[in-house]
Amino acid sequence: MSIKENLEQVRQNIANAATKAGKKPDDIILVMATKTVEPERIREAIRAGGHIVAENKVQEALKKYEVLKNEDAEWHFIGHLQTNKIKDVLKFADMIHSVDRLSLAEKLDQRLQQEGRSLDILVQVNTSHEESKYGVAPEEALSLVKQTARYDTLKIHGLMTIGLFTKDEVKIRKCFKVLKEINDNIVKEGIDRVDMKYLSMGMSGDYQIAIEEGANMVRIGTAIFGARNTPDAYYWPSEKTDADRAKQME
Ligand SMILES: *Cc1c(COP(=O)(O)O)cnc(C)c1O
Repeated sequence: MSIKENLEQVRQNIANAATKAGKKPDDIILVMATKTVEPERIREAIRAGGHIVAENKVQEALKKYEVLKNEDAEWHFIGHLQTNKIKDVLKFADMIHSVDRLSLAEKLDQRLQQEGRSLDILVQVNTSHEESKYGVAPEEALSLVKQTARYDTLKIHGLMTIGLFTKDEVKIRKCFKVLKEINDNIVKEGIDRVDMKYLSMGMSGDYQIAIEEGANMVRIGTAIFGARNTPDAYYWPSEKTDADRAKQME
């Protein structure tokens, strides 16, 4: 199937899941996860109506951004961010989904102050503990949000998580429920400058479940662009190998 057809299929699935969750299809924002995808194929996806491009590695993203910056698209960063890449990530990112520690927030704020601008961010939570090394622990998320909110260049707009890689739907759902619960607690706190608009959760294998559990931003790669050759371990180090993951996803 073509990228356009894949996008249409994904949109249809999103619409169905949204309806099931009592939401409107337009309430769900589709973010295209474009790691390893060549610029020309990303361009094809943008022209087929995909409006948000999301990358995991700063250098890879910058190269693609140079080629595609005149296309009508928003650029998000969804990978692990090292502080020495902040200057570069700010050259292209309209939003960062992966703020997961105060030291990173502090450095982002310093650079943004120098540039005289603000940035939309999400706080990444590690809802699957054992699987991923990145993301703040669920029990520390509220505190990180409160402390990050003191930096007025950082506009906190919600949370992001990567669900557990398993065929066990109950366990996947649990990750999403944890994120939703943290979100609701943060909303209750009514923290100044925090506007919890987005729950970024759900990928090709689990976005329908995520939407049922409250996601309004889903990050989808494989279902639009096909399988990747580069192992995902290169993008998110984890205890599990890609072979383990492939077995789980069968
Ligand atoms: C690659 C990636 C996705 C999309 O994964 P697919 O399974 O290909 O849809 C979503 N979020 C993050 C953080 C990613 O790295």
